[in-house]
Amino acid sequence: MLYTLHSIIQEVTSAKGLQHALNIIVQRVAETTRVDVCSVYLWDRDSDEFVLMATLGLNPHAVGRVRLRRDEGLVGLVGEREEPVNLDNADLHPRFRYFPETGEERFHAFLGVPIIHFRRLLGVLVVQQQEIRRFDDEEVAFLVTLAAQLAGAIAHSEASGGIEGLHERGAGGQLSGMVTGIPGAPGIAVGEAMVVYAAADFNAVPERVPDDPEQEVELFRAAVHAVREEVKDLSERLTGMVPPEEQLIFDAYLRMLDGNSLIEETITRIREGNWAPGALSETISKHIKIFAEMEDPYLRERAADIRDLGRRLLMRLQLDSGDKRAVPDATILVGQEVAAAQLVEIPRERLVGVLSARGSGNSHVAILARALGVPAVMGAGDLPVGRLEGRHLILDGYAGRVYIDPSPAIRKEYRRRLREEAELSAGLRGLRDLPAETLDGEPISLMVNTGLLSDVKSALDVRCAGVGLHRTEFPFMIRDRFPGEEEQTTIYRQVLQPYGDRPVVLRTLDVGGDKPLPYFPVHEDNPFLGWRGLRLTLDHPEIFLTQLRAMLRANIGLGNLKIMLPMVTRLEEIEQSYALLRRASKELREEGHQVEVPPLGIMIEVPAAVYQAETLAKHVDFLSIGTNDLTQYLLAVDRNNPHVAELYDELHPAVLGAINRVAQAARAQNVPLSVCGGMAGDPKGAALLLGLGVNTLSMSAAALLRVKWVVRSMKMSELRGLAAKALTLETAAEVRALVQKALRDAGLGELFRGGE
Ligand code: PEP
Ligand code: MG
Repeated sequence: MLYTLHSIIQEVTSAKGLQHALNIIVQRVAETTRVDVCSVYLWDRDSDEFVLMATLGLNPHAVGRVRLRRDEGLVGLVGEREEPVNLDNADLHPRFRYFPETGEERFHAFLGVPIIHFRRLLGVLVVQQQEIRRFDDEEVAFLVTLAAQLAGAIAHSEASGGIEGLHERGAGGQLSGMVTGIPGAPGIAVGEAMVVYAAADFNAVPERVPDDPEQEVELFRAAVHAVREEVKDLSERLTGMVPPEEQLIFDAYLRMLDGNSLIEETITRIREGNWAPGALSETISKHIKIFAEMEDPYLRERAADIRDLGRRLLMRLQLDSGDKRAVPDATILVGQEVAAAQLVEIPRERLVGVLSARGSGNSHVAILARALGVPAVMGAGDLPVGRLEGRHLILDGYAGRVYIDPSPAIRKEYRRRLREEAELSAGLRGLRDLPAETLDGEPISLMVNTGLLSDVKSALDVRCAGVGLHRTEFPFMIRDRFPGEEEQTTIYRQVLQPYGDRPVVLRTLDVGGDKPLPYFPVHEDNPFLGWRGLRLTLDHPEIFLTQLRAMLRANIGLGNLKIMLPMVTRLEEIEQSYALLRRASKELREEGHQVEVPPLGIMIEVPAAVYQAETLAKHVDFLSIGTNDLTQYLLAVDRNNPHVAELYDELHPAVLGAINRVAQAARAQNVPLSVCGGMAGDPKGAALLLGLGVNTLSMSAAALLRVKWVVRSMKMSELRGLAAKALTLETAAEVRALVQKALRDAGLGELFRGGE
């Protein structure tokens, strides 16, 4: 059963478009379950009706014509109840509605199961049979399992253009392909998709029309030749080292490379208008699928050989051709999982948006996008990545939506929104030189979070009070080894210097979790609960000391450095870090450098640190709450996982309670407190934090003027009252409603126009 399920899903997943996918479903389900009829009805959001989209067994002319509202017919009943409806004689049911065009009067037994994707009802899968009988438990279970799995594939092919097909059938609405994801960075982007992919990932290689197909064929032939030589060489080197039967595999590889179907098919695809890596990926995926579905276990295993051979060819092609694509003027960077390093490679003036099928608003690539002021949509799992190269996209970073080749009406609507945005930012620019103080005169320190050298310009441009968090990870992530002391010293000096006497908080290395280093792989089942941040650097004093020494040296003659430790969970970690800091400065002084020991602070970002905040505060110079991780760890919601992204909420009463507790601890110990997580850059979050007594907020430069507007529009007394009220509420929704109302009442309604 599992095997059948698996093979149906595979076929559906690789179907070309929605209609093809639905036809496969009805055919394969009817075949497997031996029913007389199998049909799929999809919910058309525009007309609020179920539409018969595919059938095997009913009259094919009924497809596209049979339409039912949710309160109509048995299909409507399945939709209403969102559970299976199993009837031995459907025509006796009061909800039965007869459509003469279907010819369904002959069928009595009826089983309908809903197709639901992330709580959204996509449609209903129905099987019918002539005889009067109830479908048994096993049949129901099979169909329910299948529908649950098909939901993802259907949502995916809807997004790759299938919806348009639905509308051509007469719904009349004006919907083009739209994919929903998660807001990553606010803003709207209009641009052209440029797909990036990890080396040798067949599923992510985009389709692309080559300038000169014959030249592309030559490139491919050269790659085949090079891989032949490579395989021969490998085979020769292994002679005598492995049993002869193991070596036969290389002969098989060579045969595959000798002009058989793999090669010829790829060349045909190139000539049909796809570049070599795209054509090869398509061929390899198809062959892997054929072998993977074979009943014979030996043949099934051959899929792995094809994958291996394909990977070799693809790597060779990538090596030979390099990435010579022109970067579009308005680039929306698209990928299965866009990496921070890929984002940095696109010239800033051409990068207008980021779209990633994986990750969430708290992934580091989203944080980086926010820092750069580039709108981003994350976790768009249904994204047809491979088919997006060069397509026109509109990306809505507020709502987490992307439109593929949008209709004129949608374009017009977004042009209007862009105009409004421009007006708002022009208005906000007027606030740059005004002090950040509340209406009743309370000064607030608004700082920026940075991570790249290029951040300096926008940080200075918004007249920040300094840097509240400089993430030092990026130079570590984009190299192929740990950066040395000299390199780091140069970088940190460039970070410290532009701010004069304004403080700059350099955070020590926080890798691990979702920020792996390519040259220092760590394999863990739960990386966010594993070897990350301070835990890793304390275990590698040679790496930690190099970084501390570089920070101290960079500060010579400047004096605006503060050092901050990430992921603190135990007091001992602070003591050990202090010991290393003192050691680094002692050594440097002995070497003749005039270094000073700077203030040392910690991040409060794990629940343990919240409960021990007062103790920890006694031992450090400042505290900074990292709400991104704190929310993740308090709510047990992976900050990168799109499946649970809706549960990730900084306004959750537990998060507010934790922040309040830390604020009280900091006051009791008279230790400065700031917040440097994403909450500080969100107008609602900022209002609550100020009310809770946090008067230093650090955020992306792109968010700073919005928050300054909030600060300058409200009284501290008002904010305190707001936070006190919020602390009494029981759900995040109530908190959100309360703060939104307060901000609107203060005349800040425009901040929510983006759909927030
Ligand atoms: C945080 O966790 O809130 C934080 C600021 O650190 P990072 O996002 O880099 O983990
Ligand atoms: Mg953190």
